[in-house]
Amino acid sequence: MKHEGQIKVNSENIFPVIKKWLYSDKDIFLREIVSNACDAIKKLQSLYNIGEVEDDGVRPRIDVIVDKEKKTIKVIDTGIGMTAEEVEKYITEIAFSGAEEFIQKYKDKTDAENGIIGHFGLGFYSVFMVASSVEIDTLSYIEGSTPVHWVSDGSYNYTIEDGTKETHGTIITINVSDDEKEFLEDNRIYGILRKYCRFMPYEIYYNAPLDKEVDDDSIESAESLTPVNETSPLWTKAPKDCTDQEYINFYQSVFSDFNPPLFWIHLNVDYPFNLKGILYFPQQTNKLQVMQGEIKLYCNQVYIADNIKEVVPEFLMLLKGVIDCPDLPLNVSRSFLQNDGDVAKISKHITKKVADKLNSIYKNDKEKFESYWEDIAPFIKFGCIKDEKFYDKVKDIILYKTINDEYKTFADLKKQDDKNVFYVTDEKVQSQYIKLCKENDIEAVYLTHSIDTHFISFIEYKETGSKFLRIDSEIGSALKTDGSTENSEEIINIFRSNLNDSKIEIKTENLKSALTPAVILLSEDERRMEELNKIYGGIFPSTKEATSTIVLNLQNDIIKSVASLSQDKQKLVCNHIYDLAMISHKQLSSEELSAFIDRSTQILKIISGIE
Ligand code: ADP
Repeated sequence: MKHEGQIKVNSENIFPVIKKWLYSDKDIFLREIVSNACDAIKKLQSLYNIGEVEDDGVRPRIDVIVDKEKKTIKVIDTGIGMTAEEVEKYITEIAFSGAEEFIQKYKDKTDAENGIIGHFGLGFYSVFMVASSVEIDTLSYIEGSTPVHWVSDGSYNYTIEDGTKETHGTIITINVSDDEKEFLEDNRIYGILRKYCRFMPYEIYYNAPLDKEVDDDSIESAESLTPVNETSPLWTKAPKDCTDQEYINFYQSVFSDFNPPLFWIHLNVDYPFNLKGILYFPQQTNKLQVMQGEIKLYCNQVYIADNIKEVVPEFLMLLKGVIDCPDLPLNVSRSFLQNDGDVAKISKHITKKVADKLNSIYKNDKEKFESYWEDIAPFIKFGCIKDEKFYDKVKDIILYKTINDEYKTFADLKKQDDKNVFYVTDEKVQSQYIKLCKENDIEAVYLTHSIDTHFISFIEYKETGSKFLRIDSEIGSALKTDGSTENSEEIINIFRSNLNDSKIEIKTENLKSALTPAVILLSEDERRMEELNKIYGGIFPSTKEATSTIVLNLQNDIIKSVASLSQDKQKLVCNHIYDLAMISHKQLSSEELSAFIDRSTQILKIISGIE
């Protein structure tokens, strides 16, 4: 019955199109062929299940066999097979999706619809990215069918004739083209199978003896071989059937992370779309960097890609996890996904689940939540900035760690001071200010992560009327006391004429803590602008260096007596007070430091009566 034909295509020149842009990643040809094999098995299994066909006991399995000499890759399945008409229809008529017709035919009888990959019928042709020609040997499960042999070189021509296959199922033989020889390497093929097929639902063997080659007492019985995949990955199970240890093991093996995750969310949705998956909150090993996540996307246990931002909300990509979403048309280009209403719904749903989980931990075990906080804070803050809906859901459980090592919410902080929140970005550099706050019972919180600059601007925008002030930007009213300001002008003038820093502003205050002669303050807004400019490379126009102010404490004895000193001593005292204030504010440059040391020696000499 051999005949030759021309492949029918609906749009012209579809091959070059497929080859070029539909699949930028050649590796996926194997995923497509192996997942077709899985589908073929699944179809037969569902016919068994509904009693349409009697189970003949042939083991569902897929074999991938590479023959370097013959330069072939064979993918063999024990599935439903195809008749000659079906090959013509499903394989040759590209745009025709066999899967779709199968659903039409059996839609009332099986749940096959939930399980068929790829609605586009282009998957098979991706094989021509690496093949010079492809052969199909297949026998339909239908009794009395004639086996079929089909060959095509990926142009418009193909031949189809009777074949020799004796058992139902399909053998796809890929004749690898000369310039794609890498795909004959063991590591390459095994790597692709582990990457894309690791969780496919039927056992896949690589270069293993086939069932029919194995005699009963051979030690190499295929039963004792290990498949390359795990057919029932954890996410496919019901959450109630999974143990903590299983979640942790799954995490550690999939993400090669030695540290166990903090906690996880098992997603399991049937309606209005299908979605399964597990999201993990990893421990942070490098506290200062924004965490690096990894969300693996699957479609019916077939790996699609990592971190597809069209499906998974951007901030969730800071987490690690797997998401299996059979409803997504993942075979098409990503721009299509962006316009897909389902995709938006899915990402909304995931966001909600994450917020719910966080809220429930907070409600049920606050201590635990606090212990997680440092690890999850960057994620939550990033999420708030990226998605205001997420912020609305978690805003009451965002924590701030205070300088007294307590965790407070924004509402708690507002109770103390309904306008300002003082914060520390560097515990060491700002230690003097922290001390001042502690002595005067002023609350301040640590905001030390790189995301915090953005985060506080975001909170200020959401919570109008609130202002975050770095601890060295302003003197809170709680630090001040009443006192005379009589000599203020004279003292300012003395400092002005003695200090080398002409840009600094000089002010006086009566501070409660009389021990401190002076503190340096840095304008909050100007400093933030400066920081943003540093991050974004000076895109904000006309920013000047943030103005610093030295605040002289009129309660301090040295400040009080400065006017009565000789001119030489005034110079020493003013500059020394200035340096001391600066030291607790930033690091001195090497010149500033050596001037400071020289002056200290001179002061020591004076005290010792030498000068
Ligand atoms: P899709 O899988 O997206 O429908 P493909 O181009 O990969 O598109 O395959 C087209 C059709 O060919 C499939 O729907 C199926 O009907 C048939 N087919 C492909 N591979 C096999 C196989 N191994 N066994 C049985 N039928 C197959």
